[in-house]
Amino acid sequence: MKTYKKEDISVGWNPEKCIHAGYCARQLSSVFKPKERPWIQVENADKKSIIDQVKKCPSGALSIIYHQD
Ligand code: SF4
Repeated sequence: MKTYKKEDISVGWNPEKCIHAGYCARQLSSVFKPKERPWIQVENADKKSIIDQVKKCPSGALSIIYHQD
């Protein structure tokens, strides 16, 4: 799994689960950019928008990891 850190969370992405349905890229295109590297750019939206979008991923490829400090 690849991870993309933002503040006290990270977005996790499991390429083996991703079915490339593209919901993330269509609904939050500032962050999910399949043609760019890195393709998940967490700096481009606030944390809540990212968490809400991750919950909509139909395959479970995206997840949120909460860091404790
Ligand atoms: S919404 Fe989930 S399954 Fe669809 S492209 Fe994005 S990460 Fe992959």
